Amino acid sequence: MSDVLIIGNGPAGISTALYTARAGFKTTIIGKDNGALAKAEKIENYYGFENPTSGNNLIAKGIAQAKRIGAELIPDEVVGLGFEDKLVVKTDKCQYKADAVIIATGSSRKAPKIQGLSEYEGKGVSYCAVCDAFFYRGKDVAVLGSHEYALSEAKELLSIAKSVTILSNGDTPISNIPKEISIITKEIDALVGEDDLLTSVRFKDGSHLLVSGVFVAIGVAGSSALARKIGAQSDGNKITVDENMATSIPGLYAAGDCTGGMMQIAKAVYEGAKAGTEVIKYLRKKDVPVRK
Ligand SMILES: Cc1cc2nc3c(=O)[nH]c(=O)nc-3n(C[C@H](O)[C@H](O)[C@H](O)COP(=O)(O)OP(=O)(O)OC[C@H]3O[C@@H](n4cnc5c(N)ncnc54)[C@H](O)[C@@H]3O)c2cc1C
Repeated sequence: MSDVLIIGNGPAGISTALYTARAGFKTTIIGKDNGALAKAEKIENYYGFENPTSGNNLIAKGIAQAKRIGAELIPDEVVGLGFEDKLVVKTDKCQYKADAVIIATGSSRKAPKIQGLSEYEGKGVSYCAVCDAFFYRGKDVAVLGSHEYALSEAKELLSIAKSVTILSNGDTPISNIPKEISIITKEIDALVGEDDLLTSVRFKDGSHLLVSGVFVAIGVAGSSALARKIGAQSDGNKITVDENMATSIPGLYAAGDCTGGMMQIAKAVYEGAKAGTEVIKYLRKKDVPVRK
């Protein structure tokens, strides 16, 4: 159990950790990879670097700094977020509880360009199994995706839906899919419906799969997907936060690219720092004891 759990080891997540760990709260960061910065070869507009530096270098330095002051980093992918007696962050194999959670997962992944996908949003297309599975009880559904996140959404649906099929849309799906979940790897042509409701998926070879619901779970769980799981407000791909980086759920904060606005390191670092200082106040108000 941590006092503070941060999802994302980019500039926003690491910056939050620098504050909460230094204030004596047990701080755990779960990060999947190097995020957006891994793609930045040459950064020359961030404070303190005389010569251009790479995103990967900046991340390595940030992680080393956070570890030095006592934050723990767990390399893993978060697939769920919920609330029991505390906030609960779920990966494929573990559950972590914390008094405060910060979503710092960068900007959400884009949905693939499939004809009918946006047209049937809310009319058969969903982005959150835990939120919408109930509407599909006893029905045939599909999950669009091919990695851990897609599998976790498919498992969530298994106990409620009549059948669950993973659609990898031409990708090679992960290997540990249980036999109760079907897999179709064919490329998708379009989502098709009648009377404003989704009825089937059409593949490029002309065949159809009859489904009432398609749950989009491409890549990793994006920031707004995580927010939706716990009922926090979001606006499109952006998590809604107040001036203290607090979401609509007590103890849940968000920082960095996932809150929208200027997508720059300086802004992510500021929002991480702000979230960190506000989390410290929140934990002190709850009388969470410091550990050192
Ligand atoms: C090509 C490119 C060049 C850029 N150049 C510049 C530049 O020169 N200057 C500048 O200021 N900005 C630049 N940016 C923007 C900058 O990279 C971002 O604004 C900044 O990285 C945002 O920080 P963040 O912490 O919010 O998100 P990110 O850096 O994207 O970090 C997100 C973190 O969340 C983790 N994560 C996501 N989902 C999950 C999950 N489900 N489970 C666990 N972990 C998860 C990722 O692994 C990552 O650790 C560039 C971006 C790109 C793509």
